[in-house]
Amino acid sequence: MKNKIKNDLILVGVILLLSVLSFGIFKALLRPGNSVVVLVNGEEKHRFSINEDLEEFIVTDGENSNTIVIKDSEVWVVHASCPDKICASHAPIKNEGEAIVCLPNKVVITVTK
Ligand SMILES: [Zn+2]
Repeated sequence: MKNKIKNDLILVGVILLLSVLSFGIFKALLRPGNSVVVLVNGEEKHRFSINEDLEEFIVTDGENSNTIVIKDSEVWVVHASCPDKICASHAPIKNEGEAIVCLPNKVVITVTK
C-alpha cells in the first residue's frame, strides 16, 4: 500500500515536471521577430523593421485600408475600413510567427525573423 502511494507521488512529480518543461519549450519558441511583413491578397507588399518606430502606415488596396503602427518593437492596427474591425481590436504582436489578419480587406500583418 505504501509503495502505491509512493508511485503515485512519483507519477505526479513526473507530470508536473513535464508540464513545466513543455511550458519552457513553448516560451522558448516565442522569440521576438525583426521584421513586419504586410501581405495584401497573399502578396508581400511591405516589409518594415520592427525595431524602427513607424507612426502610421496606411495599407491600401483600392477602397480598403488598414493603418498600422510600429512602436517599441510591437505592431498593431489602429484604423481599418473593414466592417468587423477584428484586426483593429487585436492585441499588439511582436513574436516570430504572430499575425494580425483582416479577412474582409485580405490583409495579413505578420512578424518574421
Ligand atoms: Zn479588419
